[in-house]
Amino acid sequence: MKLDVLVFAAHPDDAELFCGGSIAKMINQGYRVGIVDLTQGELGSRGSASVRKQEAGEAAKILGINVRENALIPDGNIELTPENRLRVIRFIRKFQPEIVFAPYREDRHPDHVHASQLISEACFCSGLVKIKTDQKVHRPKQIIYYLNHDLTSPSFVADISDFFGLKLKAIKAYQSQFYSGKKSDEPETFISSKSFWDFIETRARFYGNLAGVRYGEPFFITSVIKIDNIFKIFA
Ligand SMILES: [Zn+2]
Repeated sequence: MKLDVLVFAAHPDDAELFCGGSIAKMINQGYRVGIVDLTQGELGSRGSASVRKQEAGEAAKILGINVRENALIPDGNIELTPENRLRVIRFIRKFQPEIVFAPYREDRHPDHVHASQLISEACFCSGLVKIKTDQKVHRPKQIIYYLNHDLTSPSFVADISDFFGLKLKAIKAYQSQFYSGKKSDEPETFISSKSFWDFIETRARFYGNLAGVRYGEPFFITSVIKIDNIFKIFA
């Protein structure tokens, strides 16, 4: 299946947390969007690989995602090996996306940092004919990096005001990870605390405010954006 957009994430729930609103909006605009989670998130303090798989499926349904797969790279150990790069290349060639989303290269979580580099390298190498996978070679036109926890000036902010509710709903599908008011015997973490929901809202309001809208998601690109109609963009 050919996709317009392929979102790579280090862990199940990263895509929803960092670009769930944009995913929902692009799907609403008629684009075919898929997600590939690199790991099963089995190293997380709460939940398990099987529970998180079920939750990821539920979140995908909520967002209306066309396809969601898992690269089955060990959680906490996203290594920059030729084997892992080839795994990612296979997904890029399988879905032939025009745009790839990846985590930004600077973050406190090493998996996000390594995933960023692995996906960037794979996007380039996927266009090399001499790297054989029995698939049509393909290099995406653009990699868009979603910002994680650290503060970085975004290249642009996507207006997700009308899709913030759907983003929250998709995140809530990860019941093992986030606060739901239900009693749990699993260890308390930052993301399982009630205040994490405030963090999500505040972050979306902060970036939205920078762009003059209610809710926003920040993105970074290494290239320069070409604008055809300056007036239309800014007035
Ligand atoms: Zn993550």
